[in-house]
Amino acid sequence: MNLARFKRRRYTAHATPIEPMPHLAAALGGARLFVKRDDLLGLAGGGNKTRKLEFLVAEALAQGADTLITVGAVQSNHCRLTLAAAVREGLKCQLVLEQRVPGSYDPAASGNNFLFDLLGVEKVEVVELGADLAGTMAAMQAALAAQGRRGYIIPGGGSNALGGLGYVACAEELLQQAFDQGLAIDRIVVASGSAGTHAGLVAGLLGNSAGIPITGINVRRPRAEQEGNVHKLAVEIAALAGVASPVPREAIVCRDEWVGPGYSLPTAEMVEAVRLFAGTEGILLDPVYTGKAAAGLIALVRSGEIARDETVLFVHTGGSPVLFASQAVLATTARAA
Ligand SMILES: *Cc1c(COP(=O)(O)O)cnc(C)c1O
Repeated sequence: MNLARFKRRRYTAHATPIEPMPHLAAALGGARLFVKRDDLLGLAGGGNKTRKLEFLVAEALAQGADTLITVGAVQSNHCRLTLAAAVREGLKCQLVLEQRVPGSYDPAASGNNFLFDLLGVEKVEVVELGADLAGTMAAMQAALAAQGRRGYIIPGGGSNALGGLGYVACAEELLQQAFDQGLAIDRIVVASGSAGTHAGLVAGLLGNSAGIPITGINVRRPRAEQEGNVHKLAVEIAALAGVASPVPREAIVCRDEWVGPGYSLPTAEMVEAVRLFAGTEGILLDPVYTGKAAAGLIALVRSGEIARDETVLFVHTGGSPVLFASQAVLATTARAA
């Protein structure tokens, strides 16, 4: 692999830290737990989409785009970060927001919804679950073209092969850091959503023959469907990155026991995980992605499926702005009620 072949913008000055989580490990009674702090990536509020946008926005600029168009849920971190990248580059940004939970769009909501306004989104179009998202974005692009403008469409989560290179780069970064820190990682645990993060890590670790298994924790889809999505995308990312070996289907493991009733809907395990990370390590998770991924990590350690002597790296993919739209579910007062 030689990622330097690709155009890239830089939105984070340094590698994100790998930190130990000794107090969380003590509270769980086992495993050597570490966290890759991708919540500390650059652009407004940080999180995993920043790495994908470094490659996607570079292509948008190379094509002469003046506007970024993308799609996400009503509290989408990806939409917030795409908008922030647009602002940084002097571009406009238009968003399609999908109501995955009926009635969930509230124009007065806090969290990322407020930040869409603060960062100066040019246009927001709210559509229902099941709407033709690609078609809606294409219509936005056509409307811009009619005005002599040029829109660049970024798929949901920035999860195509080009965006996935961001997590190939993350795999290389974390392997170098682990070597420098003398850290022999036995397993990586990460949230698995639109799949670019999980698939990019798989491709990057494979391209480095790292031999480190990844456990994806689903936030939306059933296991078989998500594993298929991740594998398909990992194959595409590996091809683009120039990984010589084929991506084995068995390398893709997605656990769906912590999705709960559905995407973004709270679970007791998520609430416990968010409060435990905050209270033991001072780390802010989010209720939609990292809270559920951490609930999976916690359950796997407690059950012994992750052994007490295993060294585990949890990739923190960000999302903390959503906490501020979720106080009713997460605060002590909410739990007592
Ligand atoms: C988008 C997102 C994820 C999921 O990453 P994918 O690449 O979409 O699978 C995880 N955590 C947070 C905070 C996110 O915003």
